[in-house]
Amino acid sequence: MPNQSIFVSDIHLCESRPSITHAFINFLDKIASEYNAIYILGDLFEYWIGDDSKKHTDIINAIKRLTNRHTKVFLMHGNRDFLIGHAFEKKTGATLLKDPTLVEIFDKRVLLSHGDSLCTDDLEYQTYKKEVRKISWQNDFLKKSLNERLLIADQLRKESELKKKNKSNEIMDVNIDAINQLIIQFNYPDLLIHGHTHKPDRHPMDINGYKIERIVLGDWYEQGSYLTFNANGIKTNQI
Ligand code: MN
Repeated sequence: MPNQSIFVSDIHLCESRPSITHAFINFLDKIASEYNAIYILGDLFEYWIGDDSKKHTDIINAIKRLTNRHTKVFLMHGNRDFLIGHAFEKKTGATLLKDPTLVEIFDKRVLLSHGDSLCTDDLEYQTYKKEVRKISWQNDFLKKSLNERLLIADQLRKESELKKKNKSNEIMDVNIDAINQLIIQFNYPDLLIHGHTHKPDRHPMDINGYKIERIVLGDWYEQGSYLTFNANGIKTNQI
């Protein structure tokens, strides 16, 4: 079973930045379609207010084109689009993955995560996340009108931008103990791939004598980037 895979995260699709939407659809049609699977590891959208939203139909159609052919699409929630639900899966043919998820690719054990749960120094964010990931919060939110939800999402984004200004880079980055814990919990996978921090890099690690590589995916604010994993190995790519 060939399992050439491609990984992206933090595309942050938003109607106010149509060029990124265009570039991403082009990427799905021309590049991702050559692979057996694409893993979108969170923050595909700048915000997602519910599957009943009428926005981003061009993206939904582009994902559907992939799944209709022979590319499996796996999707993980990010901190911006955690309200993507089963209706979205149905419309696109994509499969939602839990965060974290362990997969096997070319005999490597690959642990996937969005990455926000590793930023444990950002206590304020972790408290906020606990609240908005409650079923009760989500049910209350989804009961509101689309307009009301848009306003709240906008407000939350503005608050988060303001808060970020007062936080150091270290606080918003991943915590190394949280990474070590996760690696041990999953019995030393070969690779950990995540996004969220917008600090694309490859970090070789040695944990208790095990060699592990942590790969951080880049965001799509300035330019597109993606990671490929095929028979030739692992490679980072820019668009
Ligand atoms: Mn994120």
